[in-house]
Amino acid sequence: MPGAASSPSVGAESNPFLQMQARFAKAADLLGLDQGFQRILARPAHELTVAIPVQMDDGSLRVFTGYRVQHSIARGPAKGGIRFAPDVHLDEVRALAAWMTWKCAVVNVPFGGGKGGVICDPRRLSQGELERLTRRYAANLLEIIGPERDVPAPDMNTNEQVMAWFMDTYSMHRRMTQTAIVTGKPIGLGGSQGRRIATGLGVALATREALTYVGHQGPARIVVQGSGNVGGLGALLLHDRFGHKVVAISDIYGGIHNEKGLDMPQVLDWLAEKRSLEGFPDADRVSNEELLELPCDVLVPAATENQITSQNAARIQARVIVEGANGPTSAEADRILEEKGVFVVPDILANAGGVTVSYFEWVQDRMGYFWEEEDVCERLERIMVKAFRDVVEAAERYATSPRIGAYCVAVDRVAYCLRLRGIYA
Ligand code: GLU
Repeated sequence: MPGAASSPSVGAESNPFLQMQARFAKAADLLGLDQGFQRILARPAHELTVAIPVQMDDGSLRVFTGYRVQHSIARGPAKGGIRFAPDVHLDEVRALAAWMTWKCAVVNVPFGGGKGGVICDPRRLSQGELERLTRRYAANLLEIIGPERDVPAPDMNTNEQVMAWFMDTYSMHRRMTQTAIVTGKPIGLGGSQGRRIATGLGVALATREALTYVGHQGPARIVVQGSGNVGGLGALLLHDRFGHKVVAISDIYGGIHNEKGLDMPQVLDWLAEKRSLEGFPDADRVSNEELLELPCDVLVPAATENQITSQNAARIQARVIVEGANGPTSAEADRILEEKGVFVVPDILANAGGVTVSYFEWVQDRMGYFWEEEDVCERLERIMVKAFRDVVEAAERYATSPRIGAYCVAVDRVAYCLRLRGIYA
């Protein structure tokens, strides 16, 4: 397939877009997908780069770079988060946009895939600077976003407040309140019950399904990399609602480990107060690299891309990996883990709880009628369980890994829509 990296070299291993393409190419070949469709889906449909001028608090003017990539709208409006990070780059946003296409298709919600990124360090911005940056970025995207076109959401370093500013900016330009323009908004401003915990709950449900699938009985020892919206809340739910033992967890500075299990509510309270896990009592300090290699039943990488690579995959001791983050494992590492018999619940399934409840939020906004948390969680559970089954069935049918099984499910569903719609040439 042109432009695809079927066997990534060392440089390619750290490029998320090439990593995405390698998996896509594998699934497309297994499906026998037409070469023309492969060429269409291997690259994003639409990319926009914008300059974002911001007046800083000290009076100076800075210009930030922002992106919005729409990978596919074959199944519906583009959908996907916005990340604010100092090192975010276009190939990363392209990969993340494509992963959204596949993720929405795996859980069968009627969206395509998109992603946004702004190169900035939000920890170094004041609240006012962050607001001005968000609003100007939103204004710069006006032509390509909309409830029926492209619906952003939170991602790394963006939150409900950022979504509220984004929604307000769009609404002010359109001279009406348009809540369905973004998801992940605060409750009371068009947000959905259950959205905050949705990704973590999806990860916990995927873990439950995976443990049953591999025949694990009783409480599991779980290691979680990351303690934000996905890792932190996922670990809390795995501990509180699902009765597992979280033996290690980390933040960007490093991790804490206790073989007897961590008291997750206490860990999250500590983190909320001190903004770091450092100094947490009754636990050993481990680095983020060491954490991944700890003995455990389930490893949940829920931080960022490229954590499990050809460099460390052989040393992973977990029996099951549940990918809370997008793209935490490289295609080279996939092969090593497969040989070791590790069961990997791939990102496009494991972390799809967030976008599933985003879909519920969008539906509720458009209806103007809001559901109770119980309804949201029940519907999410049904969708996650069905998606898990679809993925393992595809993996069995094509005699491949759950990751490529998930891509097969997704690519087949997207190609179906593409085929029916045609290319309008
Ligand atoms: N940023 C989340 C993800 O990567 C959520 C996207 C959304 O809800 O649109 O899945």
